[in-house]
This record gives sequence, structure tokens and C-alpha cells, in this order.
Amino acid sequence: MSTRRRTLLKVIVLGDSGVGKTSLMNQYVHKRFSQQYKATIGADFVTKELQIDDRLVTLQIWDTAGQERFQSLGVSFYRGADCCVLVYDVNVMRSFDTLDTWHEEFLKQANPPDTRTFPFILLGNKIDIDGGNSRVVSEKKANDWCVSKGNIPYFETSAKEDYNVDAAFLSIAKTALATDREQDIYFQNIPEAVAESEQRGGCAC
Ligand code: GDP
Ligand code: MG
Repeated sequence: MSTRRRTLLKVIVLGDSGVGKTSLMNQYVHKRFSQQYKATIGADFVTKELQIDDRLVTLQIWDTAGQERFQSLGVSFYRGADCCVLVYDVNVMRSFDTLDTWHEEFLKQANPPDTRTFPFILLGNKIDIDGGNSRVVSEKKANDWCVSKGNIPYFETSAKEDYNVDAAFLSIAKTALATDREQDIYFQNIPEAVAESEQRGGCAC
């Protein structure tokens, strides 16, 4: 019986309510988009497999259940994260202004061994709206913020038009993989990998 080498990466997605976190995940994993606004129910994750060079990577992407409105995400949400994706809406200044808080909150809650090198990535979403005419945060402003936080990679995305979504998540996987924090696991299928993750504290409760 052969065992394939798989790397499981826990990715958490943070940002203000309504910026498009759930939509980005749905577009990436299921290739679908919904106009309807539904507050996510039940903190949970979705998985997506991809091949990076010679490695099979399972991205376990955690979405919030709408609790981001109260900034009250449980400790199990943050625990064991390999990468943190911060999302804002380029048309809503407040969602950009709160990035500092999300960044700090992540570091406080997840408490990674080295806060300076922990991999973050920033997504400026909804660039499709009004052909870009209603955007209030410039690409330069976003890039400057990323530089101030230690050169966080930045992508402008549209979950609606599936613009840059695959590229952003590929970069997320590569960024997380580069830090390789000894989480290599050897499994034949995802259910076992998920069970292992839950043992690591990744339960959806
Ligand atoms: P969340 O609260 O951050 O998870 O945000 P949602 O994914 O639920 O999205 C909030 C609203 O914005 C929904 O009505 C989505 O249809 C819409 N939305 C999300 N992403 C985009 C996008 O890229 N472009 C446009 N035009 N609307 C989007
Ligand atoms: Mg959501």
C-alpha cells in the first residue's frame, strides 16, 4: 500500500463582514458566485487540493460564521493556522482601516512563534464594481500598508468575475508552504487528514 505525501495547510480568512470572504472561497473552491448576501452559518472550512512542484497540498480554508462582526472568533479558529488571508473591499474605506485591527487580532489570538515572519496575504476585493469608479482605496495605498507590515503579498480580486482568485490562493499556498512549520503529514485520503487537523485543534466548534 503506497502512501502519498501530502501537506495540509490551514488557512484562515479574516476581514470585515461583507467584504466578500465567503464569496472568494466559493469562487475558488466551487467556481460559483451568488449576489445574495448570506451571513455564513456555522464556522467551518472547505478544502482544495493542489499540486505545487512535487508536493500535493491540501488547503484547508476556514471561513467565519459571521462572528467577525463582533470580533469574537473562538480560539480553535485561529489555532494552528499556517497562513492568514486578510480581505477588504476596495470600495469601502472602513474595511481598509480595520485591517490593522484584524492583523493585530490574528497575532494576538494565533500567537505564532515568530510574529514578524508569519505569512499573511492581503486581498483587495470587489474591483469589478462600477468598473473601478467607486473604489476609494488606491492600489498604492494598499501596497504601502503591505510594505509597512513586512512586505505582505497583495492581490486585487473580484469574486464575482473570478478575477485573480486562483492566482491569489496559489500565492497563499506557496507563501504558507515556504514557511513549512513541520506540518508535513502522510495520508492517503482527506478524511484522515481532516481528522488529524481536528486533533491539532482545528475543530469547528
Ligand atoms: P463576507 O461577509 O466577507 O463573507 O462577504 P460575502 O462573501 O458574504 O459577500 C458580501 C456581498 O458582497 C454579497 O452580496 C456578495 O455577492 C458580494 N460580493 C462578494 N464579492 C464580490 C465581488 O468581487 N464583486 C461584487 N460586485 N460583489 C461581491
Ligand atoms: Mg461570510
